[in-house]
Amino acid sequence: ARAQQARTFDGRGRTRDGHRVQLLANVGDPAGAAPAAAANAEGVGLFRSEFCFLDRQDPPTVEEQVTAYRTVFHEFAHRKVVIRTLDSGADKPLHFLTVSDEENPALGVRGLRTAARWPDLLEQQLDAIAQAAGAEEAEVWVMAPMVSTVGEAEWFVERCRAHGLDVAGVMIEVPSAALLAGPILARAAFASIGTNDLTQYTMAADRLLGSLAELSDPWQPGVLQLVAATCAGGAQQGRPVGVCGEAASQPVLAVVLVGLGVTSLSMTARAIPDVAALLREVDHDECRRLARLALEAESAAQARAVVRQNLPVLAELG
Ligand code: PEP
Ligand code: MG
Repeated sequence: ARAQQARTFDGRGRTRDGHRVQLLANVGDPAGAAPAAAANAEGVGLFRSEFCFLDRQDPPTVEEQVTAYRTVFHEFAHRKVVIRTLDSGADKPLHFLTVSDEENPALGVRGLRTAARWPDLLEQQLDAIAQAAGAEEAEVWVMAPMVSTVGEAEWFVERCRAHGLDVAGVMIEVPSAALLAGPILARAAFASIGTNDLTQYTMAADRLLGSLAELSDPWQPGVLQLVAATCAGGAQQGRPVGVCGEAASQPVLAVVLVGLGVTSLSMTARAIPDVAALLREVDHDECRRLARLALEAESAAQARAVVRQNLPVLAELG
């Protein structure tokens, strides 16, 4: 009977024994903010700011940016909003921020690397974020995409501080960043794992190629081990580590991620009720035990199978 009920989310993610896991929404453009707020998301775990400007030929002005960001911050007054600075390149190029003659754009000047190349645009964006945050009541966190080195993290955090943006973090999407999570999180206030790109770069499999779907799978034990390494760095530094890739929206995998030490999950808003429902049926220790089983698996299929076999509540929930 439980399986038939349309699920809603009460706004407080937790395991059966009360271990808190924030359940947040991914938001593309400002129009996505209202439905995410209505779904009771605890906040926005990934505001993809570049989605506001995908069809623009020229960079947006500071004023245009302030307007776009305020819309999202306004919907989430008194809640957390993690805004990602422009993530341009490869699968989501911005006309004004992309080097178009690269042979391997996924490995090119993209993500935070564009900010080093065009620092004025980062300065303008941070200025706009600070203005928008000052005008609204949301708790604004800022994060950089595609960070690969400790030096990049340090530079980004410093730029944010110069604009009064004190909660500055990084996305973990590149294996080197996952392995260096300790020193990175000694500088950055938080990390958010982008499992879409982390899987792409760990498995060397283009995330857009359907023919490589078996490799492009966040259940791959190699990917899970990098998630564990990131969480270990977070625990070492006492920093929160979230996941904002598609992996967070798969309920069984979400349980494993929590067991690996992830403290928040951000996903498309309509996935939140199912993730919340399964999490509520599992104790935190059980999440940890399942995570260990997944880490010991030798393939994605085996990881999935062993976790499902050891999660009897699945049959009940449907
Ligand atoms: C990711 O890579 O997992 C992520 C959340 O960022 P995007 O999908 O926008 O690249
Ligand atoms: Mg990404």
